[in-house]
Amino acid sequence: MDIKSIKGVGEKTLKYLNSLGIYTVKDAILYFPRSYEDRRNIKPINELKDGDIASIIADVSLIYANRRASTGKTISRVVFKNQTGFIVGVWFNQPYIKNTFKIGQRVFLYGKISKKMGEVQIIEPQYEKDIEDIKFGINPIYPSNKHLSQKVLRKIIDECLKYIDSEINEILPDDIRKQKEIYDIKKAILNIHHPNDYAALDKSIERIKFEELLILQLGLFAAKKRFEKLENAYPIPVCSEMKEFKESLPFELTNAQSKTIREILIDMKKSKPMNRLVQGDVGSGKTIVAIIALFNCAMNKYQGALMAPTEILAQQHFLSLKSLLKNYSINIALLIGSTPKKQKVEIIEKIKKGEIDIVVGTHALIQENVEFKNLALVITDEQHRFGVRQRGELINKGHNPHVLVMTATPIPRTLALFVYGDMDISIINEMPSGRQKIDTYFVRPSMRDRVYDFVKKEIKNGRQAYIVCPLVEESEKLEAESAVETYEKLKEVYFKKFNVGLIHGKMNSIEKDLVMNDFKNKEIDILVSTTVIEVGINVPNATIIVIENADRFGLAQLHQLRGRVGRGSYKSYCILISEAKTDEARKRLKIMTQNSDGFIIAEKDMELRGTGEFFGTKQHGPLELKLADPFKDIDILKQTRDLAREMLEKNMLYKKEYFNLIKEIENKFNAKIDQTTFN
Ligand code: ADP
Ligand code: MG
Repeated sequence: MDIKSIKGVGEKTLKYLNSLGIYTVKDAILYFPRSYEDRRNIKPINELKDGDIASIIADVSLIYANRRASTGKTISRVVFKNQTGFIVGVWFNQPYIKNTFKIGQRVFLYGKISKKMGEVQIIEPQYEKDIEDIKFGINPIYPSNKHLSQKVLRKIIDECLKYIDSEINEILPDDIRKQKEIYDIKKAILNIHHPNDYAALDKSIERIKFEELLILQLGLFAAKKRFEKLENAYPIPVCSEMKEFKESLPFELTNAQSKTIREILIDMKKSKPMNRLVQGDVGSGKTIVAIIALFNCAMNKYQGALMAPTEILAQQHFLSLKSLLKNYSINIALLIGSTPKKQKVEIIEKIKKGEIDIVVGTHALIQENVEFKNLALVITDEQHRFGVRQRGELINKGHNPHVLVMTATPIPRTLALFVYGDMDISIINEMPSGRQKIDTYFVRPSMRDRVYDFVKKEIKNGRQAYIVCPLVEESEKLEAESAVETYEKLKEVYFKKFNVGLIHGKMNSIEKDLVMNDFKNKEIDILVSTTVIEVGINVPNATIIVIENADRFGLAQLHQLRGRVGRGSYKSYCILISEAKTDEARKRLKIMTQNSDGFIIAEKDMELRGTGEFFGTKQHGPLELKLADPFKDIDILKQTRDLAREMLEKNMLYKKEYFNLIKEIENKFNAKIDQTTFN
């Protein structure tokens, strides 16, 4: 059911809901709170302490005229009273507040208590005037943005929850639920939104985690089995030009690259499809590995596809392929969202006829109605940006194609089994020779001028620089605006005598292209950018990256961004500018200055924050888990693994009570599971 059909969802609200990833009623039902506020304890006013978070019911007794403080803020004050005392509600810069209350009205207040000169205040409390409607329980606080208030979001989600019976199916059979003593799905979901008490909340969360991890394990198991059984891939022998091609490369391959390439070429020869993950830190040289595989595929007259997570990266791969393969008659095409319509139609036609040998693209590759003649090799770069499902979609375009995925995300062995349980793994654990350590510094904004002087010095030596603007969560538009602002300032003030360029996510691909090309050709000295350059971009002459408000980025992101420099033989620098007001922020930035190995940074990230974002186990990560965390939920993990094994050994999945579960696995993994899958 479309969320549009819910009452109270107009065009604007719809847009904001969409930006939270809510499109359907089911999405809303499964949109879980990030925390809760406990409104169960209604406290007497005379027992409140400074700093308490309290719920109060009282009557409006006095409304003051708005006042202007010396700071320029408007202050609105409303006095509430009940049998236990008086309390003053205080609001800043919300002058309309005074008109929202009426003397004598009974209201519910929830907020933080402050005691000032004998006066009990409640600061900018949430309030509800319709006492009948008040929810006194443990109330949800949803992840939201400034456009959607908690009140509105709650109302919409509550409305959606009325449809839970038709929208949500139980996928775990009764006997399993009984045996494991877990809640049924509807009870769990309702309690996650509006817990009866904390025990019920715990049980509900456990239920969702159980389901997520069980599906993951069964799905991976199925995928693995499926791959083991597949025959009929196109066997691709090593082409006779391979040796000559490798020798023509502008550099010598590292041992780790050679080993990985050998493993890939052996896989490709087989009629069982390759299913391999290449893991190598930023800058370790994964691209050439992909290019060699694609080259071998094309020389054998089969089609290959390379999918990258951003347009700029796809563009870059396209150009590298064109330049390295220029002496061979191999047709290469680029297909991205912003490829002009007419050209797109042409390319798609040629792919279908087999006139294109290698196609590089973004997920436009899977979205458009692209059909291949004989797709035999599918490569996804920066796999951590794609979910399990997207990987599946591209694979489905071929007839059991060989599959190679590349990632810079360091995956501990234990987790690799869960994320890539179905894959063989090659590791590039060696950097190309001649690389120097990137020096990383963490400085305060007051040092900015000195940082810029240093940037100038590097440029005068013939190098180039990136300046990364503050991250604006939630809005690519705001982020772009902030980048434009920074750009203007840098161009007019600090770097007047230099060529400054700008790149951000709101530019179209032709604009982005022009800028990237200018940067590559050294026509731009300093590239001001948003995180669009985060993955994959390769300009070895760039030796310095300055990251503004560095504490807003996660460690994985910082490590990726830093990886934009140090890609050649020049000494490179990464400068993190930040106020770093909290302890945690300082710790994180220090980890960056002290470590250069992605693996170690990931580990420290985990120590600091539990899972950390390196493994992207949250909603949009490759695992697409909402609540479960394979690191923390070891117990549930073990339980579900044993159960999954038992289900398979006892051939339980073919019973009709398991029908919904199988369907869910198919959905998640985008794969048809049939009778033979698990045998
Ligand atoms: P990543 O693993 O981050 O994708 P790339 O494949 O983009 O790294 O390689 C980073 C840079 O290193 C590129 O400029 C590439 O040409 C260069 N490179 C790759 N392999 C080698 C090598 N064996 N020797 C020297 N330079 C290399
Ligand atoms: Mg790369």
